[in-house]
Amino acid sequence: MLPIERQKQLLSWLKEEGALSISEISKRLQVSEMTIYRDIKPLLTENKIIKTSGGITLASINNIPSSGCTYCFKESNSRHPVQIITNDLKVEQLCCPHCGLLRYKDIETDVSQIICRDFLYNSTISAKMAFFLFDSDFNLNCCQPQALAFGSRKQAEQFQKGFGGVILRFEEAVEEVEKRMKGDLGCHCNK
Ligand SMILES: [Zn+2]
Ligand SMILES: [Zn+2]
Repeated sequence: MLPIERQKQLLSWLKEEGALSISEISKRLQVSEMTIYRDIKPLLTENKIIKTSGGITLASINNIPSSGCTYCFKESNSRHPVQIITNDLKVEQLCCPHCGLLRYKDIETDVSQIICRDFLYNSTISAKMAFFLFDSDFNLNCCQPQALAFGSRKQAEQFQKGFGGVILRFEEAVEEVEKRMKGDLGCHCNK
């Protein structure tokens, strides 16, 4: 099989299964792990796939079959999904950053990657590097309190100028959403 054919095969497996380990791929394709690493290099550069601790997953979270949000169980057709990849390479789909942050808190030690969408550009970003805007006058029409994710502080600040709110880093955002869910506000997930 040519490298290009292996890449195609790989992508189709990822579409069906969400994530795969390098050793599993090497077994299935009957080539060495070195070869697999060489094969996936261009896919990584083109941002088609993302490396996790034990393997790889598809970069485009829309391609992953979804059976609703893992946290609030809402049917997820949100434009701002969050994806969590666990250490054993299971892929969880969350409807929005609100559920993503809460789910992360629940299974923190099992999380290999948490990925979200940049609110403005819709590009895939690591949630841990993102900036989260709370309390803005923009309604995502998903779960409350809502958080909007931005890839850069500059963009978050520009949006904040127009719509207000507070900007938090990932760890702060996790704490904030948890604190509010425990507070008087209670759960406002509109299931
Ligand atoms: Zn949810
Ligand atoms: Zn939601």
